[in-house]
Amino acid sequence: MYDVYKIREDFPILGREVYKRPLVYLDNGATTQKPRVVVDSLVNEYYSVNANVHRGVHFLSQQATELHEASRETVRRFINARSISEIIFTRGTTESMNLLAYSFGEAFLKDGDEVIVSVMEHHSNIVPWQLLQSRKNIVLKVIPMNDKGELLMDEYKALFTEKTKLVSVAHVSNVLGTINPVKEIIKIAHGHGVPVAIDGAQSTPHIPVDVQDLDADFFAFSGHKIYGPTGVGVLYGKEDFLEKMPPYQGGGEMIQNVSFEKTTFNDLPFKFEAGTPDYVATTGLAKALDYCSALGMENIAAHEQELTRYAMERMHQIEGMRIFGEAKEKDAVISFLVGDIHHLDLGTLLDRLGIAVRTGHHCAEPLMRRLGIEGTVRASFALYNTKEEIDALVAGIERVRKMF
Ligand code: PMP
Repeated sequence: MYDVYKIREDFPILGREVYKRPLVYLDNGATTQKPRVVVDSLVNEYYSVNANVHRGVHFLSQQATELHEASRETVRRFINARSISEIIFTRGTTESMNLLAYSFGEAFLKDGDEVIVSVMEHHSNIVPWQLLQSRKNIVLKVIPMNDKGELLMDEYKALFTEKTKLVSVAHVSNVLGTINPVKEIIKIAHGHGVPVAIDGAQSTPHIPVDVQDLDADFFAFSGHKIYGPTGVGVLYGKEDFLEKMPPYQGGGEMIQNVSFEKTTFNDLPFKFEAGTPDYVATTGLAKALDYCSALGMENIAAHEQELTRYAMERMHQIEGMRIFGEAKEKDAVISFLVGDIHHLDLGTLLDRLGIAVRTGHHCAEPLMRRLGIEGTVRASFALYNTKEEIDALVAGIERVRKMF
């Protein structure tokens, strides 16, 4: 039994008020709130275990290392990677994508090579490739979409040439909520011998992810979007690729031996983890993943799908409502505009009613251009949201609409 009211008790912040109104937190696409088990694990580790990992012979260092490496195993299990060698801890999806673009770019891309992305990418899956363009003259090709926000698969197939070296696409759009058919996207790319990277920032918190079933070559996600701490994320990569890719940063931890003449690098995944990792956050991330696993990702997905269905139905009844993203496969994100009310005004007035939503371009300016708008209001749901909160959102929008 999925008891959302009981689940909410695990998240102290959900009980607070803003402007003397109960908080309705619908900005989960930006970051999620944290259950007690996650925050407790951070406090406990700092109070009773804290020591730098990997390099110490002493008791605390070994205990901290054990916790850190056990977290890597929890991540491996959560996304069903083959080996912990394939799990690189980063600061988040953004760093994962920058690591990938730099390191994959160094190893596998040369002038004239092509990388395929989609029109609905977050800036973190666009700009790293453009940064690479200052070193290598690569070409970005873009998968278009239809007006519902679904990628055009025939157009996608037509983008491949002998110069295509990588496809890098979002699993779920942070604006449209579209769940892209990544398994099919990967199958098609592999048919051309091309690997695929998946930006899983918006999928991992909402739907079960199995990187082996998807056959993804790379997969990135952020801890803070899946109820974990800020400052930690993951890049999964198939060992074959990671072995051939050069380090992204140099420093401690990522080396085997250093001399002024020659330095040799550490084994996977440490080759990509220069410096002291946020080992307290990785423990917190593992707690968050265990929390989700205990609820069951299938159950979380079912709850959020029902919320999304309910919200779409209710919001469509609002006069002047325009919803961006009507894909058949849609996740817990609803972007919208109402009449000619500016998104910033709508967001600000909703805030005064205690309703936290996001406004703006959502780090997806090319997508805004495709939609012919500057920005939207975005409501995004999490495992703890309720239908009552959606009713509050709808009532809030109605109230603002009547004011204008
Ligand atoms: N990709 C997508 C689809 C996102 O929604 C986000 C966060 N808005 C990111 C990447 C970047 O994640 P982070 O800021 O945690 O690195």
